[in-house]
Amino acid sequence: MASIMLNNPWDRARSQLHSAVSHLKLPAAFIERMEKPDRVIEVSIPVKMDDGRKETFRGYRVQHNNIRGPYKGGLRYHPKVDMDEVKALAFWMTMKNAVVDVPFGGGKGGITVDPKKLSEGELERLTRGFARELAPYIGEEVDVPAPDVNTSPKIMSWFRDEYSKVVGKDSPAVVTGKPVGEGGSEGRVEATGLGGFYALMETMRLLGRRHNGLKVAIQGFGNVGSYLAGYMKEAGFRVVALSDSKGGLYVPNGIIDLSVVAACKEKSGKLAGCYCVGSVCDFSNMESLGGRDISSTETLTLPVDVVVPAALENAITEENANAVQASIILEMANGPTTEEADVILKKKHVTVIPDILANSGGVAVSYFEWYQNMHDEKWKKEDVLAKLKERMDTATQAVYENAKDYKVSLREAAYIVALKRLYDAA
Ligand code: NAD
Repeated sequence: MASIMLNNPWDRARSQLHSAVSHLKLPAAFIERMEKPDRVIEVSIPVKMDDGRKETFRGYRVQHNNIRGPYKGGLRYHPKVDMDEVKALAFWMTMKNAVVDVPFGGGKGGITVDPKKLSEGELERLTRGFARELAPYIGEEVDVPAPDVNTSPKIMSWFRDEYSKVVGKDSPAVVTGKPVGEGGSEGRVEATGLGGFYALMETMRLLGRRHNGLKVAIQGFGNVGSYLAGYMKEAGFRVVALSDSKGGLYVPNGIIDLSVVAACKEKSGKLAGCYCVGSVCDFSNMESLGGRDISSTETLTLPVDVVVPAALENAITEENANAVQASIILEMANGPTTEEADVILKKKHVTVIPDILANSGGVAVSYFEWYQNMHDEKWKKEDVLAKLKERMDTATQAVYENAKDYKVSLREAAYIVALKRLYDAA
């Protein structure tokens, strides 16, 4: 029963909050404020489908807390989106924005929809409808959405355009993650993956661990997983396994050319079968590469040094945590580890670099984008990436120091860092 409860992300978020506050002397009223979102918004979005039918979708926006600045967090389009998931994700945004020290509060939104079943026109009408419904509650200095699972720069561009029409004023800073030519920041598209890479490298430096030749398995090959894979390979890690929602591939000696594999996935719609030698990718190469197909869950328990969940919540559970062989887990997805799994991993002395630190690079560059829009500036990519590295290194060091001081896990330490900053601002 308890395990069922804690697989509800909102229950887990609150449980993580309580475990961190037990180390701090914080007033009950402050803790209560953190436990309750400031506002929850649920809307109906009627959309005219291509065949002339009208379909109504359900959309959500949760504004968890704005003590440190405007609500900030992405919009997710997925069939499993519901209010509890969005509440948890909004709470994690409040914590994440405090850990990476950007002047934002936490928010999150989404629509219960399988966007892969919609045409581009239907997706645009859905997004514009959502923007109209949310317009009274958001704004450049109020609440600033961004991309998340299945939402792209193009979707952000539609959203900004529709919002601007509703309020009668062009408002580029109402969303981040826009295309670079339309007010987006250089470096935003790769920011989450690169930020995770910086957090990993800094943690390994602090732990005195070498990275060259270490084996990595990555679950999720979307925006976050694909960029991260590239940075890790470039730095000398061996990326041996990749998976997406349809399964994946395992090549024990390392996947040779990630860009060819990415092109294969783009063409065939899935990673499975992308055994590439030169530019030729198919099953006939599987044997010569010594590879095999894997399921998405198997990605997490392969004989590797680093496992990266970069897809959705509840990937590592009490069912598979004992089978994890890696000594480091880099949580790029939000909430990928259940509470029970966390306990098991702690006993196994696995270093878990928690989501609210590991994936905070995206929102750090979202802040840079918002700042550039608000001040009519345009920064060079190298400047954006240098600022990202500085923020990720500083945040990682703060988390590591607090873990040592309080003798707690990196996850609890990240919450401690966030809660202290939130309390100071309250
Ligand atoms: P995306 O939509 O670009 O990619 C998601 C990937 O996960 C796809 O490859 C999809 O096939 C895969 N996937 C879905 N279900 C899966 C399953 N059961 N097993 C294996 N793979 C599966 O999304 P993204 O932007 O890369 O986000 C990935 C995660 O990172 C999410 O948890 C998101 O909340 C988190 N995150 C994203 C950002 C960002 O800037 N995009 C920032 C912070 C956190």
